[in-house]
Amino acid sequence: MTQQPGGMGAGAARAAMAGDASAQHGAGLELITEAPERAMVIFAHPDDAEIGAGATVAKWARAGCEITYVQCTTGSSGSNDRSMTTAAIVPIRAAEQKAAADTIGVKSIEVLDHQDGWLDPDRVFLEELVRVIRRHRPDVVFAHDPERYSGFNHRDHRAVGITAKDAIYPYARDHLHFPDQITAEGLETWKVKHLFMWGTDQPDVIVDVTDSLEIKVEALFKHESQIGGLATNTDAATRLRTRAKDAAAGYEFEYAETFRRLTARR
Ligand SMILES: [Zn+2]
Repeated sequence: MTQQPGGMGAGAARAAMAGDASAQHGAGLELITEAPERAMVIFAHPDDAEIGAGATVAKWARAGCEITYVQCTTGSSGSNDRSMTTAAIVPIRAAEQKAAADTIGVKSIEVLDHQDGWLDPDRVFLEELVRVIRRHRPDVVFAHDPERYSGFNHRDHRAVGITAKDAIYPYARDHLHFPDQITAEGLETWKVKHLFMWGTDQPDVIVDVTDSLEIKVEALFKHESQIGGLATNTDAATRLRTRAKDAAAGYEFEYAETFRRLTARR
């Protein structure tokens, strides 16, 4: 688990400032109730997708949304065990990510095979993200917020956020960017409608995940090499529930995930 999502405590703070009225009218974030036809989650390391958007994506998958995961690195540095090697951890994390994705209800996983800690927002990575967007044609893309100022933000997370944002606009949309994908690979341009970013300082949308939070907890615990194979009734699960409850403070539901949303102009 490289990083916790941001916004912890923000819901409670907003609710406290808004007073009792917030319980009736919410705490100012736009409530997202509709699931799109197709969504994509672009993330740096195995487990980031579940931490960032697991409950929302599980909810949307159960509403019929087709979900694609784009795992950008192999997670090859993700171990605190001094006896663990890069060669040994990669297949472990791949299997864990597959199990977590199955739990969430993800239809396909694209693994870009970059080394953990080595992601750069360069043209090679940009071209890869443009290709997966043009291939899967998602209405909504989820990714790390690259512009978070509070706390440390992993270099790979920043690289994914910046590059996903660029890939959506304007590169995937315009036919003269990476034109070989269109002329030689048979792909077409694609307009993503919304980018939802997790781990953000400035959430502006909220999703009621009361009915899917336990799926997120279950999926996260598939990453046994990161969590230590703990059962779902442990402190880590309690922390997840507390964070989701905090995000929902001031709203008429128990658990929430929040995001910063960018919407493409029509
Ligand atoms: Zn990560």
